[in-house]
Amino acid sequence: MNSMAQLQQMNAFQDQFGREKRKLRISVTDRCNFKCSYCMPEHPEWMKKHNLLSFEALYQFCDFMVRRGIEQIRITGGEPLLRQGVVHFIAQLQALRKLGLKRISMTTNGHYLKRFAAALKQAGLDDLNISLDSLNEAQFHQLTQKQLQPVLEGIAAAQEAGFSIKINAVLIKGLNDDQIIPLAQWAQQQNAELRFIEFMPLDGDQHWTQQAVVSEQQILAQLQSRFDVQMMQGQGANPARNYTVNGRPIGIISTITNSFCSSCDRLRLNAQGEFYNCLFARQGLNLKAEIELLSSAESVAESALQQRLSSYIWRKEQGFHAIQQHQANNSRKISMHMIGG
Ligand code: SAM
Ligand code: SF4
Repeated sequence: MNSMAQLQQMNAFQDQFGREKRKLRISVTDRCNFKCSYCMPEHPEWMKKHNLLSFEALYQFCDFMVRRGIEQIRITGGEPLLRQGVVHFIAQLQALRKLGLKRISMTTNGHYLKRFAAALKQAGLDDLNISLDSLNEAQFHQLTQKQLQPVLEGIAAAQEAGFSIKINAVLIKGLNDDQIIPLAQWAQQQNAELRFIEFMPLDGDQHWTQQAVVSEQQILAQLQSRFDVQMMQGQGANPARNYTVNGRPIGIISTITNSFCSSCDRLRLNAQGEFYNCLFARQGLNLKAEIELLSSAESVAESALQQRLSSYIWRKEQGFHAIQQHQANNSRKISMHMIGG
């Protein structure tokens, strides 16, 4: 192990259950050109532009976090490709590889990929997760309020640019659960890895119900009716449970029925500097002021940030089910479009 990697290991953030933190998700905007019913509220109140962290501040924060054990950074949103300067930011992040950063990824709805895929590849992005919940045009429109075709073209452009891609499909009972077989067949033809995601209670208008969730078991039952399905071993800190379907990998992220919380190594920052130790955390930590001081190169700014972060990360709860149990009324106002999935 080289000295930089040793330093990273020593400094890694850890929570009270011994889970070390290796992955950071940064939401660079809460704005989106889609309006997915399971994510965005009917009437979103966008964050004010002047409240957003600049890319310069975000870069300083990433530098700080990579020196404390973060190995993978995922850029998300809202729709990350809506924020001007995001490609340049990815190019800047390359400088952190020498400090131990191993992967830079993005989650996108794919709508703008035809325009940006080649530039993202050139900037050094390692991989893309693209959301696609239906191959039926009318259903896609019902779910997102947008057209399907630009997303399919975006996926093609990403593959042409040389990206290995993962397709994320959120399933909602009665809305798009008829897409399990078509999406599985399509992903096999496209040579893309598909991951089904159980609907989580993070939609903007809090309409989520347990009955609307298509569970891992129900997804598997449909897949097994048509294909040979085998479970793969070794989930590790990966959120998806992996299967082979006719010999090709398909993942299922089953936060509701089989959460991966016991091995969660993720941390999250939203576009205005609120930090979350869990997707379902009851409370975030506003770090905007501390993050903006980082560029002043004052070690006192670093140690103040280190202290607040360590103690907040330490208090990370056991997981989704523990948080749901303690939460008498689901009063948290943050939804997926603000925190980034
Ligand atoms: N706009 C980008 C996109 O859609 O890929 C990135 C942000 S989006 C919030 C990140 C991921 O969260 C997407 O794959 C989306 O399908 C997923 N997501 C949003 N709301 C969800 C919910 N309530 N339950 C499960 N997944 C959700
Ligand atoms: Fe936008 Fe992504 Fe949320 Fe859909 S899931 S509304 S594309 S942020």
